[in-house]
Amino acid sequence: MATNWKEIERQYYMQVVRRQPVVIVRGKGTVVWDDFGKEYLDFTAGWAVNNVGHSNSAVAEAIANQAQTLLQTSNQFFTIPQLDLAQLLIDNSCMERVFFCNSGAEANEGAIKLAKKYGKLHLNGAYEIITALNSFHGRTMMNVSATGQPHYQQNFAPIPAGFTHVDFGDIAGIKTATTDRTVAVMLEPVQGEGGVRIPPPNYLKQVRDWCDEKNLLLIFDEVQTGMGRLGTLFGYQSFGVEPDIITLAKALGGGVPIGAFLANEKAAVFEPGDHGSTFGGNALTCAAAHAATKYTIENNLSDKASRMGEILGSGLEEIKRANPNTVADVRGMGLLWAIEYTSDISASVMAACNKAGLLLGILGTNGNRLMPPLTVSKDEINTAMERLDTGLKAVSN
Ligand SMILES: *Cc1c(COP(=O)(O)O)cnc(C)c1O
Repeated sequence: MATNWKEIERQYYMQVVRRQPVVIVRGKGTVVWDDFGKEYLDFTAGWAVNNVGHSNSAVAEAIANQAQTLLQTSNQFFTIPQLDLAQLLIDNSCMERVFFCNSGAEANEGAIKLAKKYGKLHLNGAYEIITALNSFHGRTMMNVSATGQPHYQQNFAPIPAGFTHVDFGDIAGIKTATTDRTVAVMLEPVQGEGGVRIPPPNYLKQVRDWCDEKNLLLIFDEVQTGMGRLGTLFGYQSFGVEPDIITLAKALGGGVPIGAFLANEKAAVFEPGDHGSTFGGNALTCAAAHAATKYTIENNLSDKASRMGEILGSGLEEIKRANPNTVADVRGMGLLWAIEYTSDISASVMAACNKAGLLLGILGTNGNRLMPPLTVSKDEINTAMERLDTGLKAVSN
């Protein structure tokens, strides 16, 4: 008889997330198993983290080797895994310098600090950052302000000042919001948590042009879109637009907590003493991230995401056709997809899909997010679509 983990959680853990009633004990590739040995296809991938699949052996081996060699030294010294990873990321991006931290929120904090320093040095002290409505940038106080969704802010007033929110996809909104105090525009190339919103054609290019015209920095929050998810190693490559700063986390470490912000030479204005981190760039997490990134590049997982994304997209279109009364919309790019319903049934669809052996992400009350590992196979996608169909029919009947 399994321990009652759900009761322990209710009693001991801060009640901040409505967990699905599944205790995951093991994973391999796209598959995870619960404490009763039941098998699920994991289309949440740890919230877009397990891009290289669960228990990826290249990552596992790197972690095991590094754990027996060196875990942590502080940034008072040079360490090789950190520099290997720095070089790999810079060599494969349009960026010139990197800083490692421990999460997406921390990466965005760093990017925001960098932009403010840039404003101080080069834009008469400008400090305001334009971000998008429905964006998601993380849970620290600064990112709560950056995030354009009131429900993340309302319980935490006063929130830090210095952010203006505009409609995502509307270049005129950015132009109108720009003032003498504006230093940067910060966007997710595709909005993830806010609903898998793909920008209109040319939008990001127009934002880039506007930033160039006004000498503003363009920051892409690629915490979710980075590391192959959209069909290119970094999301900006899918749109042919080079930002000045990108932030990464989620899939970067192949499952271990690591974040990063990368900047071009123009934006990389930090000097000794401006920023730091005890664990940032830690040997263990960098070794894991190096293995995950190398695996992603060498196995061309970006291309795979793009090919498998087409299969997933057509599968979802088919589901929509087969369930016209329940499914309102499906949309996505690469292996980041959303299914939106005609009513508030996401919780019951998730429950029915859990039962059928498919784990889904949540998207408000009327949608679900699908973001499997990029190593997902065609057969797994087809099976997932059958299980989703089963789940939807169970809810609508
Ligand atoms: C998840 C996410 C974050 C926050 O990352 P954490 O590691 O949870 O702090 C920030 N931005 C985007 C786009 C995200 O998807």
